[in-house]
Amino acid sequence: MKKTYQYYLAILFFFVFTACDSTTKDATEEKEIKTEEKEVKQGPISLVIHGGAGTIKRENMTDEQDAEYRAKLSEALEAGYAKLESGAPAMDAVIAAIQIMEESPLFNAGVGAVFTNEGKNELDAAVMEGKTRNAGAVAGVSTIKSPILAALSVMENSPHVMMSGKGAEQFAAEQGLEIVDPAYFFTQNRYDALQRVKQREEEDGRSAALFEFPDSKFGTVGCVALDKDGNIAAGTSTGGMTNKRYGRIGDAPIIAAGTYADNETCGVSATGHGEYFIRAVVAYDVAAKMKYAGMSLEEASNKIVYEELVDFGGSGGFIALDRAGNISMPFNTSGMYRGYMNEKSSPKVFIYKDEKE
Ligand code: ASP
Repeated sequence: MKKTYQYYLAILFFFVFTACDSTTKDATEEKEIKTEEKEVKQGPISLVIHGGAGTIKRENMTDEQDAEYRAKLSEALEAGYAKLESGAPAMDAVIAAIQIMEESPLFNAGVGAVFTNEGKNELDAAVMEGKTRNAGAVAGVSTIKSPILAALSVMENSPHVMMSGKGAEQFAAEQGLEIVDPAYFFTQNRYDALQRVKQREEEDGRSAALFEFPDSKFGTVGCVALDKDGNIAAGTSTGGMTNKRYGRIGDAPIIAAGTYADNETCGVSATGHGEYFIRAVVAYDVAAKMKYAGMSLEEASNKIVYEELVDFGGSGGFIALDRAGNISMPFNTSGMYRGYMNEKSSPKVFIYKDEKE
């Protein structure tokens, strides 16, 4: 009788033990699956920026200027990338990177913007979010310290996509954005560039723009970012073109021309001769070629910049990034301030055409 009792007890222990063991196993398996899911959801993060395309040649730059540009581009990349690394949305990274370049006199955006024919700085900027395809833009503003922030505010806090001039400035003030005296944007070298263009206009007896100058440098700024959730955001900020008149607005604040983002395809920020970029609907065309013609980001980018824009007469380039984190930085001018940063690399910055990316 005692033996039988011990026998049943042993069987009971066996079942209890097996049951516990399989529960632990299940828990481990579940954990593994969850980790995998997390890894799938948390895709690669990536950031690409530009600081304008144009006649930018090594022989026209001093070593100090070259180093200054590279340092500022790296700083912008690191600021944007730090946002992505901390898990912030792609748009936060775009704003952080662009604000650093807007505050630097090196670029044609914010401080250091080019001058209009009347001797003013009139700034354009836009942002677009790839997940929702929400967008915001401001054009021809002279008193908003950070036009890119104003573009974001239009997107987030208004039912509109684009605001211009005085109305945009009033909206920015109502939003509590920093308003500055227009003199905040002044830099002597941009002012001198205007005088040179005007002098040439007088000599030639026709309207000229800085793009027609062989030594001209531009400096629009832009950023495209991909965050850990697979969302793409793009932004562009610029002073436009030297000697612009009559309230001229370029491609930068025009969604689909100079700025575009769609999670399905890519995000784009352009720089170059805006009139051509508007007519060629450049930024959207990259996405369209991917969506409807099945091209890769690289194929679409190269076709537009090295074939179609060249045939059309449009000089410039753009930066773009797809949902897998691939980037492209094509341009058909002699240089474009540009750079990228991703999980595999520290900030990589480039200026001239012959630099290996
Ligand atoms: N795309 C800008 C504009 O036409 C200028 C530039 O990128 O340099 O306003």
